[in-house]
Amino acid sequence: MKVDLHCHSLASDGALTPQQVLERAHANEVSMLALTDHDTIAGIAEATATAVSLGVNFVPGIELSSQWSGVGIHVVGLAIESQNPLLTSALCEQSHKRETRAQEIGRRLAKLGFDGCYEGAKQIAGDSEIGRPHFARYMVEQGFVEDHSTAFNKYLGAGKVGDVKNQWPGLEEVVRWIHVAGGYAVLAHPDKYKLTRMKLRRLLTDFKEVGGDAIEVVSGQQNKDITEYFARLCEEFDFYASCGSDFHNPNTRWCDLGKVAPLPKICRPVWQLWGSAGALKAGL
Ligand code: AMP
Ligand code: MN
Ligand code: MN
Ligand code: MN
Repeated sequence: MKVDLHCHSLASDGALTPQQVLERAHANEVSMLALTDHDTIAGIAEATATAVSLGVNFVPGIELSSQWSGVGIHVVGLAIESQNPLLTSALCEQSHKRETRAQEIGRRLAKLGFDGCYEGAKQIAGDSEIGRPHFARYMVEQGFVEDHSTAFNKYLGAGKVGDVKNQWPGLEEVVRWIHVAGGYAVLAHPDKYKLTRMKLRRLLTDFKEVGGDAIEVVSGQQNKDITEYFARLCEEFDFYASCGSDFHNPNTRWCDLGKVAPLPKICRPVWQLWGSAGALKAGL
């Protein structure tokens, strides 16, 4: 059974419409899929409708931006009731913060001599929730940098000038939104934060304390040793385990929908938490 509980559509920084995401997941024989766009549920209705017509077990999800100890941390919410009023008003606030942040990123880049980045990124984002990848695309288009990863390595990535994160809420708050919406909170891609082992343990301790339910033991094409390491931590801290490709774009072939290694045997899969009720929430 192929399970993929983390991916993006055009509603945030993905390249495909929610319908195309579901069609691709179906073609790749994914049997359970969660769409987890950054700070938005705008793609969930279309994804649900497509999942129903294709017979894919669809789990409504989200990836919330938060901060902890000065680090930008992503928390995935799974099996959420996407129309929950507290969640929708919180997302309205997140969207507002994204807009204010985008203006600040634009100002900072302008100071370095890169003009028009805010306007350019806005145009590329269109109706999507704006994020740093839209800035990266504009900077490539303008020839300010040679490619997307250079844009992040030099200007937009962690610790760089365009990494504006102090507006995001803390872990406790985003976990609460997810729980109020009937969902389960998953610490996304724990290897991506590049924390020391000590600091990672502190993060897991704090995530547990605020009621976090699971961690992404498998994220994309990560090394097997890393998976084993997170599986052991998952057991030690008594979390459920999740897995997802973090798919954004069909051009990145190493990261496709459903291309996710199986969870190690010692893990308790996060979908045990919702069982068939999660599918019911999606209207299946
Ligand atoms: P934002 O949601 O605006 O904070 O932007 C975060 C998104 O930028 C992530 O979800 C990735 O899609 C992308 N991203 C972050 N770091 C990198 C990187 N080093 N290279 C390419 N894309 C990245
Ligand atoms: Mn992204
Ligand atoms: Mn993320
Ligand atoms: Mn993601």
